[in-house]
Amino acid sequence: MKRIGVLTSGGDAPGMNAALRAVVRVAIYKGLKVSGIRRGYQGLIEGDIFEMDVSSVGDIIQRGGTILQSARCLEFKKDEGIKRGVEVLKMFNIDGLVVIGGDGSFMGAKRLSDAGIPTIGIPGTIDNDLAYTDYTVGFDTAINTVVNAVGNIRDTSSSHQRASIIEVMGRSCGDIALYSGIAGGAETIIVPEIDFTYDDICKKLIQGQNRGKVHSIILLAEGVGKPYEFAEAIKNKTGIDVRVSVIGYLQRGGSPTAFDRILASKFGSKAVELLIEGKKSRALGTNGNKVFDMDITEAITMKKEMDHCMYDLADMLSI
Ligand code: ADP
Repeated sequence: MKRIGVLTSGGDAPGMNAALRAVVRVAIYKGLKVSGIRRGYQGLIEGDIFEMDVSSVGDIIQRGGTILQSARCLEFKKDEGIKRGVEVLKMFNIDGLVVIGGDGSFMGAKRLSDAGIPTIGIPGTIDNDLAYTDYTVGFDTAINTVVNAVGNIRDTSSSHQRASIIEVMGRSCGDIALYSGIAGGAETIIVPEIDFTYDDICKKLIQGQNRGKVHSIILLAEGVGKPYEFAEAIKNKTGIDVRVSVIGYLQRGGSPTAFDRILASKFGSKAVELLIEGKKSRALGTNGNKVFDMDITEAITMKKEMDHCMYDLADMLSI
């Protein structure tokens, strides 16, 4: 292994830059050359590739987004796209590739590995929707952003004795709602993985009101959807004034937390080590503060399950 490539793909996440920095610095430290590939797989098939050195990743550990930029590339889902990707990597003498992204990006990485290019996946997505790892890079920053927003909304919602529905990201995964709901002291957390009834939500609101609470926070995962319909239904059933806040893309940006920067640095370093050891088609994950690697196909076929203990904890804490 003389030269490795690195790209960021799919939805961006805070901490991708920290991962990129670690890949580039550890690779150079270990005597490898590094090629940066812009705009994910789109940039790969177009040959948008440049030489990276130690300074190319200076002053980025604290920046959100990705300096390599990201893209969604439909052509790469076709066999011709993969073939072109392999040709370009060979043309640029790239012997192995690190892909920083989510499950879709990992599919692309797996297919490149099958086509002969050793590839390692670093999980980078705010959603934390990859079942095989406790955390993905970007998730911790996203939940901290949500917790700050919940605090601000709580201030104004208590001044006016209102309930607030706060919609958070996470696609079909309720982790952002669950974790930030516990950390932000939400009264109710609604996630796609667990059934709920309007009656349960309203009962909790009325109980809270009866014991003198001046506000209620309802965290709603985007996978459940329809925040305005929720607000209307709750208002009609309880008479409580309900306001909706959709946090949206605020959650995708911002300076990564120390946790995300450290996790990203460990993943970046491990990815380079695995390529040097001759490994391919591996996904990196974390469990109990340890970084591990596993087969990328197995990693993306595992089904994510909701942490029911955490959900029950949130329920007990919000009586
Ligand atoms: P994420 O990686 O965040 O899950 P996407 O699902 O949008 O984001 O995937 C990012 C990119 O990965 C896609 O635009 C495409 O280029 C590539 N990709 C996704 N699925 C496949 C696939 N089955 N085969 C090859 N490449 C894929």
